[in-house]
Amino acid sequence: MAGNRIGTGTTFDADVLIVGAGPTGLALARELHTHGVTAMIVDRAADAAHESRALAIQARTLEVLARNGLADDLVSAGNPTGTLLLHGRGRRRRGSLSAAPAHAVSLFDEAFGDTRFPFLLFLSQAGTERVLVDRLASAGVGIRRGLTLTGLSQDDDGVTCTLESPGVPPRTVRTRYLVGCDGAHSATRHLAGIGFSGRAFPQRFLLADLEADGLEPGRVHVYLSGAGPLFLFPLGSPAGWRLLVMLPPGSRTGPVTLALAQAAVTRYTRDTIVLHHPVWLTEFTISSRLADTFARGRVFLAGDAAHIHSPAGAQGMNTGIQDAVNLGWKLALVCRGAADPALLGSYEQERLPVARSVLAGTNRAFTVATGQHPVLRGLRAGPAVPVAALLLRSRTARRTGFRLISELGIHYRRSSLSVDGVPSLDRGPRPGERFPQPGMGAAPVSSVRTAAADHGAAPGPPVFRMLLCGPATEWPDARVREFQARWVHLLTVELTPSAPRSRWSAAPRVADISRRRSAPAQYLVRWDGYVGYRAAGADLDGAEAYLLGIGARPLPP
Ligand SMILES: Cc1cc2nc3c(=O)[nH]c(=O)nc-3n(C[C@H](O)[C@H](O)[C@H](O)COP(=O)(O)OP(=O)(O)OC[C@H]3O[C@@H](n4cnc5c(N)ncnc54)[C@H](O)[C@@H]3O)c2cc1C
Repeated sequence: MAGNRIGTGTTFDADVLIVGAGPTGLALARELHTHGVTAMIVDRAADAAHESRALAIQARTLEVLARNGLADDLVSAGNPTGTLLLHGRGRRRRGSLSAAPAHAVSLFDEAFGDTRFPFLLFLSQAGTERVLVDRLASAGVGIRRGLTLTGLSQDDDGVTCTLESPGVPPRTVRTRYLVGCDGAHSATRHLAGIGFSGRAFPQRFLLADLEADGLEPGRVHVYLSGAGPLFLFPLGSPAGWRLLVMLPPGSRTGPVTLALAQAAVTRYTRDTIVLHHPVWLTEFTISSRLADTFARGRVFLAGDAAHIHSPAGAQGMNTGIQDAVNLGWKLALVCRGAADPALLGSYEQERLPVARSVLAGTNRAFTVATGQHPVLRGLRAGPAVPVAALLLRSRTARRTGFRLISELGIHYRRSSLSVDGVPSLDRGPRPGERFPQPGMGAAPVSSVRTAAADHGAAPGPPVFRMLLCGPATEWPDARVREFQARWVHLLTVELTPSAPRSRWSAAPRVADISRRRSAPAQYLVRWDGYVGYRAAGADLDGAEAYLLGIGARPLPP
């Protein structure tokens, strides 16, 4: 590990040390590399994990990964699914049970035309990590395995870390920033003295990746009984299906076997499904915990190191990857000297409330799905499935539910990076909200890089898109050019005749925003697709003040 000298006059081994090469650490390394910063990434494990663990990637995660070219690789490796089959209890007739009809619910339908990814992508965590590792390897970024973080101390300029590996003396690594992506038992979190408050649940779950005969393929199957739900997910690889079911309270602990899994499935489905060829059988318990802070000085936490919760809604890995993307572009700008370190304060401001709300939502869903109160048991055993199926016929209910699960509804409205300019716009996505159009905010890096390269600037792609909406004649050419010249290392300026009408609109018209046809409007859309700044009118001074206010540094005149 050769030291390299950077601006402050201190010798550093890396601008950023990432501890942990799970999905969060890998996504962060990729994000930093995209923005011109090569991080050092270490993991205590000698090899990548092979278990499937997280099984689904949400639409919003694919959107934020699309910018650095990962989404298409993930989609082609995975299994997109849009339909849920809700199975109720059978009826008892003449002493025997008959299967109840299954209710099909379309997870994503025509109401969600504003995303390029209108589905839930089933891909094992091992598969997701493989795509990330391959992309890093092809960019020349390797993972240093067999290194465990065991110590850290920080000062005004950087962090000194101790890394240990078996059979060799501990080594010291000096870094400007340390990001702990080292999972639920994070050493980074312990060493930085950050608390992890929450609780452990008593319920135990059986998880099995295996083959199943008798299931309609390509669907998520949900069976409900008084005891709780049983899920069969169309995983695809390394096995066709993922089974997840709560073990009966008080049942004996011991090795999980195929027979145990089959007995659980038979209890719910009455002999209609036959399991075989398991590739992973395990039992696990659940905790719900949140780090007291996501940053202490130059040390940051992301992913499971910062938050853990029940797998309800498949949010865990997705939330971690989105932490990584949120932190990555900001950290890269600071390391490159293109922004003030104050910008990093927005990471916790934006991501901690998201994690808190994921914990609250998954805790609620978990309690409703597994609570043993007689009322809950009665509901699950009886009306829950037909009532849920009826409710989900409503487009509004589906839209609300799936915005939540797909994480498309995440917003940073209260962030210091979300600013409404003057004169204000009264329609369309607000600052901190996701910019809706599938094409916008998701252009592949190559085209963006070319745009920046044309102006001879920036080691990384621009992190903002300045959208000047309305007729080109409304935008004073000299002022636009001057603005562009000052900020070309950070943004592209794009003239677009249209701007979005509503938060979820896919067919925007500028007249709908301003209520006056031909009135100009402007949007600064961040790298991760959220609106940073918006205003009516063609005066660019407000946008310039916004950029300076968040700590972005213009090119010298
Ligand atoms: C059985 C099971 C089922 C799950 N199912 C789902 C699901 O369906 N959906 C979902 O979204 N999530 C699910 N999860 C959760 C999901 O796996 C996690 O949210 C995800 O792995 C978090 O990624 P991460 O990169 O933050 O942490 P991890 O994946 O935990 O990665 C942490 C990495 O840090 C390394 N490390 C740890 N300590 C050190 C150290 N001191 N020094 C160096 N390296 C270190 C570890 O070796 C590891 O590689 C499941 C988890 C389990 C265990």
